[in-house]
Amino acid sequence: VDLEAGGLTLKPWERDELVQQTFAGRRVNPKGWARANCCFCPMRVGTDDRKQCMGLNVTSGKYHCFRCGTRGRLDSPEEFELWRPAEGGEREELQAMDPPEGFFPLFEGAGLSSFFMEPARAYVLRRGVPQEVGRQVQIGFTMQGQFAGRVIIPVLGEDDAWFGWTGRHLDPTVDRKVMYPSGMVRAELVYNHMSMLQKSEHPVLVTEGAFDALSVWPHGVACLGKPSPEQVEAFIACGRDIAVVLDGDAHHEAEVLAMRLRFEGVRAGSVRLPPTKDPNTVPREQLLKAALACVERQDHIGLNDV
Ligand SMILES: [Zn+2]
Repeated sequence: VDLEAGGLTLKPWERDELVQQTFAGRRVNPKGWARANCCFCPMRVGTDDRKQCMGLNVTSGKYHCFRCGTRGRLDSPEEFELWRPAEGGEREELQAMDPPEGFFPLFEGAGLSSFFMEPARAYVLRRGVPQEVGRQVQIGFTMQGQFAGRVIIPVLGEDDAWFGWTGRHLDPTVDRKVMYPSGMVRAELVYNHMSMLQKSEHPVLVTEGAFDALSVWPHGVACLGKPSPEQVEAFIACGRDIAVVLDGDAHHEAEVLAMRLRFEGVRAGSVRLPPTKDPNTVPREQLLKAALACVERQDHIGLNDV
């Protein structure tokens, strides 16, 4: 556990105690996760967490906050009894969820050779996601239920808990090309948010869509839409340099977000893509180079300016 990273000077047992107090009496979901307002956000971000950004797994003792980036593991598993659901206690929002009906991974086991999955596999590869990445991030497909005919990209937390997914239809003429499950709180999730917590000299690329993030794996994260205030706070708190790379038609928004991040003390820049282009439709190496350059210059630059 990196205690110094966030300027925290608490001793490990003090942190444990704080986390235990925070989760006392909380409801644990069937996958062993409890959620609460983060007790470290006031110290690390300077404002209270009101959206229950901290998760604790009562089996492993691991906890993390996607808002301020604090993570660690409790030493005293005997205390876990505290967090079993109390009778008539307040109802907590459950964020971990089951995969969609009929979900099948595309890049492992039977999915790799299935004839029926071939169009979906081809689609994913065409969107610039290498097979090995597709396997790692558990991209799948379903032919059943509400998400039938859609490529499923799970939004995974620690221990591969599902916090939601994006379902993109193979047929671009359908009404809702992209669909999310009900109950998924998009504004409070960042696709591949674990990337923000890793130490790296390379900037994180903040994109809109999961396919965009995957095209610059492992450095891409996605807002699954336009960045929300909660996501912006997570970028401020994450400790890595940030290159904002929104779709071509949103380059002004990208520039404004990068300015905001710089104002908050983050080394940040933004990359302007050609008007009809998204990050997953431009060459990967060129985009990564531009991301490095815009952070270096702390400016808004064109994709072709490097
Ligand atoms: Zn926090």
